[in-house]
Amino acid sequence: MLLTLNAPLDMHLHLRDGEMLENIAKESARTFSGAIIMPNLVPPVSSKAEVVAYKQRIMAAIGDEKFTPYMTLFFKPTYDKAFLASVKEEITAIKLYPAGITTNSEGGVSGFDVEELRPALEAMSELDIPLCVHGETNGFVMDREAEFVSIYEALACAFPKLKIIMEHITTKASVEALDKFENLYATITLHHLLITLDDVAGGMLKPHLFCKPIAKRPEDREALLKVALEAHPKVMFGSDSAPHPQHAKESCGCAAGVFTAPIALQVLAELFEKEHAPLENLQAFVSGNAQAIYGLTPLAKTVTLEKKSVHIPSNYKGVVPMYAGEEIAYSIKAISIG
Ligand SMILES: [Zn+2]
Repeated sequence: MLLTLNAPLDMHLHLRDGEMLENIAKESARTFSGAIIMPNLVPPVSSKAEVVAYKQRIMAAIGDEKFTPYMTLFFKPTYDKAFLASVKEEITAIKLYPAGITTNSEGGVSGFDVEELRPALEAMSELDIPLCVHGETNGFVMDREAEFVSIYEALACAFPKLKIIMEHITTKASVEALDKFENLYATITLHHLLITLDDVAGGMLKPHLFCKPIAKRPEDREALLKVALEAHPKVMFGSDSAPHPQHAKESCGCAAGVFTAPIALQVLAELFEKEHAPLENLQAFVSGNAQAIYGLTPLAKTVTLEKKSVHIPSNYKGVVPMYAGEEIAYSIKAISIG
């Protein structure tokens, strides 16, 4: 059995920098038409020159692959309209991190006082630059995202024309917030559609499934699965594929992140089939919704998947993927450009 996906988009991707970028960028660039590239490097990408230079390093790392990196800036409350207007053509969105909440987010926002954020967010709203948010408080780890929903709601109310994307949502509470405010959207990862905290820590600890936000309860996973399978028009696929070297995951002090880039489309195909969701919903979830929400016209790339099981390598240049050493049901048969 064959199925085809047109112009798949990954609306939340970590490509890192340096050797890691060179090692893993092609794993996304091969199968996706484009991806929203997260800016949490050290130092974070926060100037026009840094965006342009990072994009050049990405283009060098992907070599001959046809792929569009949709660049982002690391949000700072000090951004003004003149600066944002000058950088607008180089970026697709701006990513806001609460300070210290995940990998390389120390320089993020520490208070969510709407008035303090108003100048920057109003300018973004006027310039039609979407705001992507890592929505977690510094509270108890299982409650961080649910506690952040009130902040999403305050932002959505205060800036009704600003497109706010709740990144990598993991809870039923976030799914419910989607329908309350016209300007709230969401990305959902592959792994949060598949696992709960039980898979991470219910038996032997699984460091390669440890991520932020941490996987939640079965009812949360079910709520995410429902809106993904029905291709709710406000949800988009965003892998949050976040590579770390094997030693940083299998260590005392495991880094947060699941590496899914090389398997994402294949496993999504398997999941949608297993759940009896129509192919057109998968197409909307991995591309159509994102095109409509962001107003993107991705480069034409057709990915043909075949129902033929394939063995996943134990690592990709030192990065352990989800399903390492296991079989998955779908494989990539062909990719065509244009
Ligand atoms: Zn992320």
